[in-house]
Amino acid sequence: THFGFRTVAKNNKAEMVADVFHSVAAKYDLMNDLMSFGIHRIWKRYTIDCSGVRRGHRVLDLAGGTGDLTAKFSRLVGEEGQVVLADINDSMLKVGREKMRNKGIVGNVSYVQANAEALPFPDNYFDCITISFGLRNVTEKEKALRSMFRVLKPGGRLLVLEFSKPVLAPLSKIYDTYSFHVLPRIGQMVTKDAESYRYLAESIRMHPDQETLKGMMADAGFENVTYNNLTGGIVALHRGYKF
Ligand code: SAM
Repeated sequence: THFGFRTVAKNNKAEMVADVFHSVAAKYDLMNDLMSFGIHRIWKRYTIDCSGVRRGHRVLDLAGGTGDLTAKFSRLVGEEGQVVLADINDSMLKVGREKMRNKGIVGNVSYVQANAEALPFPDNYFDCITISFGLRNVTEKEKALRSMFRVLKPGGRLLVLEFSKPVLAPLSKIYDTYSFHVLPRIGQMVTKDAESYRYLAESIRMHPDQETLKGMMADAGFENVTYNNLTGGIVALHRGYKF
């Protein structure tokens, strides 16, 4: 049936995403630096600066992977705060946990294997939720956004850092060539897995643009939704509040 077909297609996406991140987990951090020329560090720094996170806050780093944001939040919230690194993929969580241990970050971080579409946390729990380069991989984005809204405290904010639509046509062309032709080659060289990086390029192309994502966040209940383009809109940081 029509519905049967849709279910199959969705399961395939979730399975493919799982395969991709199991395959790249060990080399994930290295690949991020190579692919973005280190610029992902600036995008993440900016996200932290916009988070409003302070001592004592509870933060959810959703689809947190190897924990770049978790490490920074852990310092900001201090001993009386809490950071939850949640990810659907146990290989990524493992690398993340190992990395935090190596950095000496232990006391205020916990690790939860969870699907963004059905978060296993109480209502109104977190002061801030970030999802950095994660939403693109989620099958049911609307459901995930509603789930994030539920677990966010009133007064809390959601930050979505994600690839978006470059604002200038020439940049868009160069970027398309880069992501479809160069990325899979770097992937092949470093991880022996060009296919995962073809998926990455495809998922970036399919992801909702700035205005569409803004509308989706508003539909999920978020208020005062705004976004900033970073690096000419290659990436955008969306912000929304729960009041
Ligand atoms: N946030 C990290 C960063 O910015 O470097 C990791 C981003 S990585 C590109 C995407 C992560 O999303 C992967 O670790 C993947 O396992 C996770 N992910 C994919 N689908 C998910 C879902 N439905 N729920 C939770 N995490 C998911």
